[in-house]
Amino acid sequence: MPDADPELTAARDAMVRRQLQARGVTSPVVLEAMRAVPREAFLPVRLREFAYEDAPLPIDEGQTISQPYIVAFMIEALDLRGGETVLEIGTGSGYAASVLAEIAGEVFTIERVSQLAQKAAATLSDLGYRNVHVLHADGTRGWPEHAPYDAIVVAAGGPEVPPSLKNQLKLGGRLVIPVGDDPRVQELVRVTRAAHDEWRSEDLADVRFVPLIGEEGWEEGPSGRRVQKRGGDRGAV
Ligand code: SAH
Repeated sequence: MPDADPELTAARDAMVRRQLQARGVTSPVVLEAMRAVPREAFLPVRLREFAYEDAPLPIDEGQTISQPYIVAFMIEALDLRGGETVLEIGTGSGYAASVLAEIAGEVFTIERVSQLAQKAAATLSDLGYRNVHVLHADGTRGWPEHAPYDAIVVAAGGPEVPPSLKNQLKLGGRLVIPVGDDPRVQELVRVTRAAHDEWRSEDLADVRFVPLIGEEGWEEGPSGRRVQKRGGDRGAV
């Protein structure tokens, strides 16, 4: 998709200065990636004029595209230098996946809502990203075929850190995930794999994400319960 609208380009540069740099995002690769990705391309047409507002916005299926600052903050916390293999859980619109794809070597991203997975894959392909791979599945189980990962980022909040994800990190790998007892209020934590069976955890910020629904997450529906046991379809899109 051509990115020719000068007003949107100016709004994006202003977003990087006022929302990211002013709040302490300093990683040059993250700032450059946030300057490169046209967030409007991931929004429904009627919301495109709001693409660079300092807020999350609704996409389809009751889900949201994260606030630019939180995308930058989470990706900065992954401490990427370039060329890594990264797993994202919660593709949503595909926006954060494309920011990751500007930095990493390969990005594997999983979305449990089929319609969102298909739409994100189409948007990413239209924008020319060839290093992002979208899977329709329950991401709490990770994507073992491409593991281990240098970094894993989860864009939905779970009751605990899914063991499958911890085990798919490389030694020294970083996992950033919102975790909390309430399905809608969480602490953003960074888990670093220190040894084969040793992980270190740091609290980064208080956040509010949509619930992580799946076998190692919350149960579907309003109950806000942890899942006991469930199967799941897996299919590439
Ligand atoms: N990164 C996205 C924001 C995603 S919002 C963006 O930039 O637009 C969180 C997404 O996580 C939602 O689309 C939701 O459907 C998805 N999700 C929730 N639980 C999931 C799971 N177990 N596996 C994969 N995706 C999940």
